[in-house]
Amino acid sequence: MPSESSLRCQVLVVGAGPAGGDLARRLALQGVDVVLVDRLSDLSRSAFSSAALPIETMEAFGLPAEVVGSRWRQWQLIGPGSASRSWASPQPLGVVLDFGALRHWQADQCRRWGGRVQLGLHACSSHQEGERMVTVLRRSDGRTLRVSSDWTVDASGQARALLGDPPPAQRPRDGLVGAAGLEWLLRVSPACWERWADRLSFCLGSDWVPQGYGWIFPMQPGVLKLGVCRLLDPQRQQPPLGGLITELGRRLLEPGTGGAAFEVLDRHGGLVRSTIRRRELHQRGRLVGLGDAVSTANLLGGEGIRHALSSSAVLAPLLQQALAASGGQASAQRALQDYAPQLRRALGWRWSLSGRLARRTWLGLHGPQADGRLDQVLKGLERRRAEDLSALLFGYRFERYGLRAMPYLLGWR
Ligand SMILES: Cc1cc2nc3c(=O)[nH]c(=O)nc-3n(C[C@H](O)[C@H](O)[C@H](O)COP(=O)(O)OP(=O)(O)OC[C@H]3O[C@@H](n4cnc5c(N)ncnc54)[C@H](O)[C@@H]3O)c2cc1C
Repeated sequence: MPSESSLRCQVLVVGAGPAGGDLARRLALQGVDVVLVDRLSDLSRSAFSSAALPIETMEAFGLPAEVVGSRWRQWQLIGPGSASRSWASPQPLGVVLDFGALRHWQADQCRRWGGRVQLGLHACSSHQEGERMVTVLRRSDGRTLRVSSDWTVDASGQARALLGDPPPAQRPRDGLVGAAGLEWLLRVSPACWERWADRLSFCLGSDWVPQGYGWIFPMQPGVLKLGVCRLLDPQRQQPPLGGLITELGRRLLEPGTGGAAFEVLDRHGGLVRSTIRRRELHQRGRLVGLGDAVSTANLLGGEGIRHALSSSAVLAPLLQQALAASGGQASAQRALQDYAPQLRRALGWRWSLSGRLARRTWLGLHGPQADGRLDQVLKGLERRRAEDLSALLFGYRFERYGLRAMPYLLGWR
């Protein structure tokens, strides 16, 4: 019969993604007795995120060069149809991270600062016993580990393994919105690499990816990321992502080669699920949600790493205060009551606006009429600088283009 072992700590962090890894390293640095666990037995496996970020993120969150796959300084938007537009900056505008390397580095930092990291552990349940949390984790051989902690953090991403999904929304606009993504890591020839290096390239329009978008990002020299992502729409029958990505590779990377212009090194993918208004519970007793588990991923560009890191920057000092609170349960709870409002402020009002825009834009992008509207929007951007596109797509600064015009441009009215 599988045996059971147990462990005590101050904070248990479930999920070694960008959010959990960052929180664990911050807490360990401050001397907190933290345990970081993940169901993956190797953090370089299942590196499902394309991990494109604006350059400022590196400094803002103290990320080292070793987690960077490549840098980029151009935007390239292909489509609708055969249109192609690009914007270049003399300076680097961003990075494409090696997602596996990021998770490794965070876990390693946690260990170096005295935290414990245990991999290959699947969190099954957690409950509160008095003023402590008890979390049950299972290894692949069936053995279980019971962790008793002052606080447990659910950083398990969109799976929300411990907090669970928010209850069905009373109003549809408050419910979870999901997007599914699929990505291939490709080895390509030096000439092909040059063609796509230094830039983020997106394919937009219903003839590329209905209700979503495709992309090519540069990783290390000779390696590209090719991906497709689209919002889930229960009202429509959607073509399989596998067919869409194959077609994208054929159209973008194989013209004139007769096929086989690349070797697929890895195939991965995943879901992004967020509520747009982020009104869900961030905490239940001594269980707290972090990163995608509390909807920090933004659906406009399927972007969540920066926001996951923001959530841990907000939560870390509050958890420390809660651990230091001497007045028992009530004062510990009080220390965390600012978490959700502080996180909302950190994400800003533009985050929520862009989520609404994402839902309208992507769900509506399924035919020539929507393609025509999108083309108009992109035409309007042609005279802008590459930095302006970054401010729009990463800073969500839509108001620069006239907030009043946006609903018309995107067909809301
Ligand atoms: C295809 C795709 C492309 C993307 N591209 C980008 C991009 O270019 N830029 C960007 O910023 N964002 C991108 N994202 C989104 C981004 O990856 C996420 O928003 C981000 O990783 C969220 O971080 P997190 O730590 O909250 O959750 P996650 O990264 O999902 O980490 C959660 C961790 O919890 C673990 N876990 C889950 N359940 C359990 C359990 N029961 N027990 C133990 N461990 C568990 C998982 O193994 C995982 O390691 C992309 C997402 C996808 C799917």
